Amino acid sequence: MKRRKFLKNSSTLTAGMISAPLLASCQDPKIIETNLAENPSGTKPIAICTWNFENATAKAWEVLKEGGSALDAVEQGVMVEEADINNQTVGKGGRPDRNGNVTLDACIMDKDGNCGAVLCIQNIAHPISVARKVMEETPHVMLAGKGAELFGYEMGFEKTSLLTEKSKLEWLEWKKTSEYKPIINIENHDTIGMLAIDKNGDISGACTTSGMAYKFAGRVGDSPIVGAGLFVDNEVGGATATGVGEEVVRTVGSFLIVELMRQGKSPQEACEEGVKRILAKNKENTDFQIGFIAMNKKGETGSYCIQPGFTYRQYSESGHVNTPSDSFIKS
Ligand code: ASP
Repeated sequence: MKRRKFLKNSSTLTAGMISAPLLASCQDPKIIETNLAENPSGTKPIAICTWNFENATAKAWEVLKEGGSALDAVEQGVMVEEADINNQTVGKGGRPDRNGNVTLDACIMDKDGNCGAVLCIQNIAHPISVARKVMEETPHVMLAGKGAELFGYEMGFEKTSLLTEKSKLEWLEWKKTSEYKPIINIENHDTIGMLAIDKNGDISGACTTSGMAYKFAGRVGDSPIVGAGLFVDNEVGGATATGVGEEVVRTVGSFLIVELMRQGKSPQEACEEGVKRILAKNKENTDFQIGFIAMNKKGETGSYCIQPGFTYRQYSESGHVNTPSDSFIKS
């Protein structure tokens, strides 16, 4: 049964779950007019992503400028990196776990708060699209491991080997010492988290990764965890993360940042507070990287990280730019 039908048929959908503005608008036609007039609110389409993934934001922009939805923009945007075998932190070509298996994590979230995620999925090159199918075609939010993979095949995704020769050779080299030490800014490209606003002023987000190189088999980080690696609330804004996922999960980082924006903080201020909450739990050790990016309903953006070196890409009518993020540690 399709997710929407499932929800419609569900007897748990009570009047109490319908939002206050919707109830108000049913009662007062003037409010409908005002809401419709204000909805686009002059906010122009924009796409941002973690790191300098120029081709990904260019793809998202292509979708937005044709009038496509933010959901299509973020999915198609991050798919560019999933398909790029030279990117060893996302999709095909990603570095494997310590047993030599490439396992992928991804999640996606739309303007209505619907979300879907796949965890530790193997042999499918576009986990973000499987996550979208989980969101749209099932009554669930998360599928993991073999179940996620089998669901992907049912949805028509092809089986493909994700381990490239380059990643395999590097893994064999790593096995000689088996030293597990996440590098602070791995070659300056990492997990891709993307947020977009479309012509209707609606926000969606996507996040996809192969996770930490040489992780324990079965390890899942923040990236496919809704609220940690990604969160979107279309009334407020969105946030997404990169870096050591365990630390982002401990503070439910992206949800925290969206809630801070709801309370009135700018995206920049909210990202700074998000990083500081993580540091407050790590007083003795700051030798790791976390980077957050955020966007509010007005299309304002911000970013903050622990170590210098993190940047984020932004594509809007005013151009295509890579912006270095301010960091807690300055050099
Ligand atoms: N956040 C990802 C994870 O923990 C990895 C990264 O962004 O470097 O799996």
